[in-house]
Amino acid sequence: MAVPVAEIFSSVQGEGPLLGCRQVFIRLAGCNLQCAFCDTTITAGPEFCQIEQHPGQRDFKQVENPLTAAGVAAMAGAFNLPLHHSISLTGGEPLLHIAFIQELAPLLQGTRHGIYLETNGTLAAALSAVIDLIDLVGMDLKLPSVSGMPPFWEEHQEFLKIASRKDVFVKVVVGADTSDAEIETAASIIDEVDSGITLVIQPVSPFGGVRGAAPGRLLELQALALRILADVRVIPQTHKLMGQL
Ligand code: SF4
Repeated sequence: MAVPVAEIFSSVQGEGPLLGCRQVFIRLAGCNLQCAFCDTTITAGPEFCQIEQHPGQRDFKQVENPLTAAGVAAMAGAFNLPLHHSISLTGGEPLLHIAFIQELAPLLQGTRHGIYLETNGTLAAALSAVIDLIDLVGMDLKLPSVSGMPPFWEEHQEFLKIASRKDVFVKVVVGADTSDAEIETAASIIDEVDSGITLVIQPVSPFGGVRGAAPGRLLELQALALRILADVRVIPQTHKLMGQL
């Protein structure tokens, strides 16, 4: 099984509750959504995978796609895995490649906390097929005001039920146009599964015409969600501030 991979590198996680944790990132190509704020330029089939040879040095080697699971595991394993909190399977949307993940995951041994899946939270059937191979799930819940797409409430609900079998948190990206009703719906979806699941409110990094929420508005949105959930945090993207990939 071989798939197009956009990047493999070692860095620190710049979003959510795992902020600052060292991870090896395996960025799989392709996505089933088209968010207005998306800053990933990966297409369904990039010709080459960029592999940083030494963390932070930007000394990329280009390897022709597609890559096999054994090949990706070998490249990830070259990064001194015991130093790393986990391996991040990210994208794009990694759950577009379930057969590849089923082959790859057992080969990714040696980090401190296993495999972290970073997903847009819409492909429940695909998650079911790999959930037993995953240790941690970071799930996006897409709000129409920021994504520019229709809501995926039912898909997210179904997805979160499966994801809650593992250690999971939910992230919502919010902007200037995010409404009270959206954040309350998101919190209620989480509450129906487990009100103890952490919700991360991430201010959008303005891109593609999407405007950021004012500081006071972020606190209002957090307060609204805290009426329903036990743990709601406001955490921006930080890897760009740190100059990390
Ligand atoms: S789900 Fe992620 S990768 Fe896909 S379009 Fe949205 S922001 Fe981009």
